[in-house]
Amino acid sequence: MSDSRPIRVRFAPSPTGNLHIGGARTALFNWAFARKMGGSFILRIEDTDRERNSQESLDSILNSLRWLGLDWDEGPEVGGDFGPYSQSERSECYSSAATKGLEEGWLYRCFCSPERIQKLKEEKLAAKENPHYDRCCRALCREESSLRSESGESFVLRFSVPDDEEIIIADHVRGEVKFHSSQVEDWVAVRSTGMPTYNFVCALDDAAMEISHVIRGEEHLVNTPKQVLMSRALGLQEPDFVHVPLILGQDGKKLSKRTGDTAVGDYKEKGYPPEALFNFLSLLGFSIDDETTIFGSEKLVSAFELSRINSSGAIFDTDKLAWICGDYIRACSAEALTERLLPFIKRAGFQVEEGEEEWLLRVVASYQERIGLYSDFPEMASWLFEGSVEVDKKAAKALRADGAAAVLMEIVKRLEAESNFPPQEFDSWIKSLSEELEIGMGNLMKPIRARLAGTLGGPPVGEMMALLGKEKTLARLQAT
Ligand code: GLU
Repeated sequence: MSDSRPIRVRFAPSPTGNLHIGGARTALFNWAFARKMGGSFILRIEDTDRERNSQESLDSILNSLRWLGLDWDEGPEVGGDFGPYSQSERSECYSSAATKGLEEGWLYRCFCSPERIQKLKEEKLAAKENPHYDRCCRALCREESSLRSESGESFVLRFSVPDDEEIIIADHVRGEVKFHSSQVEDWVAVRSTGMPTYNFVCALDDAAMEISHVIRGEEHLVNTPKQVLMSRALGLQEPDFVHVPLILGQDGKKLSKRTGDTAVGDYKEKGYPPEALFNFLSLLGFSIDDETTIFGSEKLVSAFELSRINSSGAIFDTDKLAWICGDYIRACSAEALTERLLPFIKRAGFQVEEGEEEWLLRVVASYQERIGLYSDFPEMASWLFEGSVEVDKKAAKALRADGAAAVLMEIVKRLEAESNFPPQEFDSWIKSLSEELEIGMGNLMKPIRARLAGTLGGPPVGEMMALLGKEKTLARLQAT
């Protein structure tokens, strides 16, 4: 299996939707392997399904890959020596391979009607037999086949699967996976419309692009014998195969919308740090060792080994993802975090005026420990950006409590009398006030928080006052 071929791997998405978490993990493993081995990471667009493809989907896949920090050496927008990299532009390669296959006899024309195929399938299933095509047209001689095609009869091209051949796939994750050619149907390589099928183009492109390792989801293992037989028919070296485990939801079933977002773009929109998602995806079926959980792309690249990929299903643990996100957010500098938060602040409609940059850094630093996602910030800190505050239920209750209004009046009076704003050593200032007025700290702090922010959470009260400034603090405390 190992040889001295240059390492060339590919990620081959179909632009029919957004980049799925499973696809992103596949891309990430390919990328990490290429970077570790000094090889090439190729992005190939499998856009043969014209009806389901869209430019919008392609753009979204490329953006999601970039957002995760996965760059490609060959493919759309960057080119390369093995292009074109979109299958829609490679039809000539496919039709010349089809002609070659017919000439060499590893493809044959099948004129059976869809009705016959359907009936055959039903009969075989009813008899509890393998519902494979019965190879009826495989027996046609070349002359008859050509004549029928020339007369305009509709046909598909089928792959002529050898009769008695072992197909042993030395998979880097799953070990030896054995198939026998009798398990493989004479599958359709080119449809009657002239449209080639996935297995046909995939094997051709992997060969043409000199792919050394096919790293992809386990769900494709069923396709591998067909693709291996294609390589053999073409007389080409088979690539190595690496089938990575399925990603399962926390319910142990295939990951789906039920248990969380499945599109990478949703995580971007919701304010997950891309490095955190990258880190988390790296752990879906791979580990550096038994204890390292937090690591970045450099560490992943240096530690990446195909032999460290697990064969059992990887659980998409959303709590772990949340924990990793928090870790990244806390480890960030306030400057870098502010940079990341700005789009979310703008999206919430909040303005940061010129000259307020320093202030914003302080606000961000105050909330750094409290936010789990970038998108948490605008809501939590909204009271600092908005002219008036919306008072939540708990805060409203604190404001209705006996003596709350009197407390607030007293605080205003004391703050006005202080030469510093907020008073220095705010904690001891308020503590001594609580003792002097014989009012518990809670009864003192709650109405203040309620008036300043409309909620009882948030940073320490002294910090809140400092962030809001004297004028606004006094105005809010006096508001009725
Ligand atoms: N276009 C296929 C997919 O999106 C690629 C499968 C493969 O990697 O061979 O699943």
